[in-house]
Amino acid sequence: MNSIATFKTEKLRHLEEGCRRNGLAMTVQRRVVLDALAERTDHPSADQLYDAVRGRLRGISRTTVYRVLETLVGIGVVQKISNPESKARYDADTVRHHHIHCIHCQKIHDIHNPAFDQIQLPTETEAGFTMIDYSINFSGICPDCRS
Ligand SMILES: [Zn+2]
Ligand SMILES: [Zn+2]
Repeated sequence: MNSIATFKTEKLRHLEEGCRRNGLAMTVQRRVVLDALAERTDHPSADQLYDAVRGRLRGISRTTVYRVLETLVGIGVVQKISNPESKARYDADTVRHHHIHCIHCQKIHDIHNPAFDQIQLPTETEAGFTMIDYSINFSGICPDCRS
C-alpha cells in the first residue's frame, strides 16, 4: 500500500495526463478536489468533499465541486461508486478493487482480496454485452454499528 503522499503525487500525474489527453485546463479547482479525495479512504459523497474543500479554496461552490467530480470521473481519474440506497460516492483509487458498505451508517470500505479478482468472466453476456471489467459490492454491518 502506498503512502498518502505518494498516492497524491501519482494522482496529480494522472490528472495532468487526463487533462492533456482531453484538452482540458489543469485548474486549481480540479487539483484541490482531487487532492481532498486522494487523502481519504472513506469514499465521500460530493457534499462531504465540498465541506472538505470549501476551507481550502475560497469561493468554491457546491456546484463547482459536483462539476469537477463529473469531469474527473469522465477522464478516468476518479471512480464513482453508485449504490442504490444512498448518494453517489467517490474514490480516487481507480485500480480494480471491491467495496463493502454498512447497511446502518452507509460507510464504505475497500476490499482487496485476490480471490475476488480471479473470477472467470464470460467474454460476452446473454444480452450481447462485451465484458470489460467488474467490481463487486458487498453489504454488511461495520464494527462500529455492531457494537
Ligand atoms: Zn456502520
Ligand atoms: Zn474504494
